[in-house]
Amino acid sequence: MKIAQLGEFGFISRLRRQCPPGPGVRLGIGDDCAALEIPPGELLLTTTDLLLEQVHFRREWTDWHRLGRKSVAVNVSDIAAMGGTPRYLFLALALPADLEVTALDAFIDGFLAAAADYGASLAGGDTCRSPGPLLISVTAEGSVPAGELVGRSGARPGDAIYVSGTLGDSALALRQLLAGEAPEAFLAERHHNPSARTGLGRALAAARLATAMVDLSDGLVADLGHLLTASGVGGRVATASLPLSPAFRAALAAEPALLELALAGGEDYELLFTVPPERAAELPPLAAQLGLALTRVGELTSGPGLVLVDAQRQERTPGRGGFDHFAG
Ligand SMILES: [Mg+2]
Repeated sequence: MKIAQLGEFGFISRLRRQCPPGPGVRLGIGDDCAALEIPPGELLLTTTDLLLEQVHFRREWTDWHRLGRKSVAVNVSDIAAMGGTPRYLFLALALPADLEVTALDAFIDGFLAAAADYGASLAGGDTCRSPGPLLISVTAEGSVPAGELVGRSGARPGDAIYVSGTLGDSALALRQLLAGEAPEAFLAERHHNPSARTGLGRALAAARLATAMVDLSDGLVADLGHLLTASGVGGRVATASLPLSPAFRAALAAEPALLELALAGGEDYELLFTVPPERAAELPPLAAQLGLALTRVGELTSGPGLVLVDAQRQERTPGRGGFDHFAG
């Protein structure tokens, strides 16, 4: 069955049956607005992201379940970057009439499974027919205790720069897909099914350990650049210290230029955060507790700008890194 046969109201009533109101949802899908609670003393966090067919994903490379999961993770990642707890999701879809209902069902299954993983519930949305590509717009809301909010502007010269996980895996998978190659399973999973680091973001905020934080969606150079600008500081990053997966290292050994993907490839969905040097000893126990690598990659300076230092201690200033949608 095509989506045109199911119709908008058919789709919404099916969706409503699939997701009973979650915790804190006074009114969810089906009224004019959602009416939602956040804990007393907490700030509401709201973020939104678009996923557009041919720009962010291609139907032939993805499966619908993983696309549903990813559309949640990329939004929840921004809540994590503020130190928040994800709570509510809104989903707006512009659906091509020829879309198969089985595809949409698999997408919704993945979306709801990821929402459950992050403790968030679908609280509303909208659908319409698209005359062209499939468009997925997700809004995520979360909350953070007012005194624990972590922004981009609190970093100070001397703070150490850390990143979680490994860098460049998703960008390497995308590069292989674009070249018509099939990435190995680990890399493909990092690209199609990223994990938002909500446990880490919350732990750093609750311990008041991070002075500033950002999630890595556009690549380390671009996202660290945003943090440096917001904080009015500079930074030095040692490229030899970037955390790389075994799969990435294997590719890098054959093609050293691939290091750019770890610096500026994008879609890592790891957290980059800054920590006062006297509190650096708290990071290894946190990494062990979370089962997630936390790697020191550099430090902040009085600036301005970002300097990359390679293994031979050669310094360079990166160009405008990262993925810029309007750069063409
Ligand atoms: Mg972000």
